[in-house]
Amino acid sequence: MQNTVDYLIVGAGMAGAAAAQALREADGKATIAMLGDEPHPPYDRPPLSKGLWKDGKEGDIWRPIDKARATVHTGRRALTIDRTAHRVQDDAGDAWTYRRLLLATGGAPRTLPFGSGFTYFRTYDDYRQLRRRARPGAHIAVIGGGFIGSEIAAAMTMVGCRVTMLFPEAAIGARVFPVALADSVTAYYRERGVDVRSGITATGGEAGANGAELALSDGSTLTADAVVAGLGIVPNVQLAQAAGLQLELGGIVVDDHLRTSDPDIYAAGDVAAFPAPALGRRMRVEHENAAVTMGQRAGQCMAGLDAPYRELPYFYSDLFDLGYEAVGTLDSRLETVEQWVTPFREGVVYYLDAGRVRGALLWNTWGQVDNARALIAAPGSFDAASVRGRLPK
Ligand SMILES: Cc1cc2nc3c(=O)[nH]c(=O)nc-3n(C[C@H](O)[C@H](O)[C@H](O)COP(=O)(O)OP(=O)(O)OC[C@H]3O[C@@H](n4cnc5c(N)ncnc54)[C@H](O)[C@@H]3O)c2cc1C
Repeated sequence: MQNTVDYLIVGAGMAGAAAAQALREADGKATIAMLGDEPHPPYDRPPLSKGLWKDGKEGDIWRPIDKARATVHTGRRALTIDRTAHRVQDDAGDAWTYRRLLLATGGAPRTLPFGSGFTYFRTYDDYRQLRRRARPGAHIAVIGGGFIGSEIAAAMTMVGCRVTMLFPEAAIGARVFPVALADSVTAYYRERGVDVRSGITATGGEAGANGAELALSDGSTLTADAVVAGLGIVPNVQLAQAAGLQLELGGIVVDDHLRTSDPDIYAAGDVAAFPAPALGRRMRVEHENAAVTMGQRAGQCMAGLDAPYRELPYFYSDLFDLGYEAVGTLDSRLETVEQWVTPFREGVVYYLDAGRVRGALLWNTWGQVDNARALIAAPGSFDAASVRGRLPK
């Protein structure tokens, strides 16, 4: 079938839903269609590894998309973009002619180079699959010590599973936290009963209905009821790449109005590589705040409003009862300055580079995101002594 719409959104995720909403608010009459390859309408991903394991309120995760009056086609994958004809072809055999197109395709989980039956945790269906397996007393192996791995390990422990966590780094969160904090988080996980095996990778294995077995880099074997892997994502840029759009940092290059190298195609969310004026460079992040705000601005810009995206996104995470918000570049290879009210329980970590604050970790310290943004935008110069006490304000 041949369809003609004003606005076509590819990707029924967090950015896509925010864009549909903003488009409708800006343009009451426009026709808006959304193609999503998951069998579900847009939903919040963060609760999948946090809140849902505490309250189980699955009804609360769905994005409020009704008011957007967009036609949402689930289970539909966009296959190609013909930029000259302004047309997208989907896998149901339909063609979509658009005036403006948004690519909000997110990312696909990185996978292990062996085995099958592992849960690469990304979607609501992954959550449901893990729910069925995460019975109290079940043994769950979690591969990965980053955001997803550490949240899932905590969630599994809290629902009564026995958890073994393995990752190549020296400690949980070692890529982002300063050494002492990463060590303290790792010790905390052990206190909570998680068998944390740092410096260990899985080198082979298989999982099935009757359980899983992993070969580990120290020569041992690990048996478990299920394996969950959180190995990061690869942005879904195939459509953009085949259409010849400019790519950088693994994502789709956009300007501050979320426009790609084609003026009628926009991109937002995990897939977009956007300019961050406060850092003086382009960045690509995988955070809810960025996805939702970029989605909104992309929708507004597509509808002809002047709504640039210039702020620095923030992100957050919950690890058992530890929680934080963070802004900017969190890279433990930068100079880090720790300022604790209570060591490793409440405080701020500043990330410095060449006299500038490049990131701030607000550890159990709330309401400081905008102040952290302002500090990162400030020209400085800062060093360990002068940055201390700048947050909280
Ligand atoms: C378990 C989990 C926990 C998280 N927790 C946090 C957190 O605590 N804090 C935080 O800041 N961020 C968190 N995030 C990250 C946050 O959810 C993402 O940054 C956000 O979902 C990105 O939104 P998006 O719209 O860019 O991509 P997505 O929400 O991934 O949506 C993209 C959609 O596009 C679909 N798609 C891809 N290609 C096509 C195609 N060709 N045709 C049709 N559809 C397509 C995908 O299947 C997907 O449904 C978490 C993510 C996960 C998975």
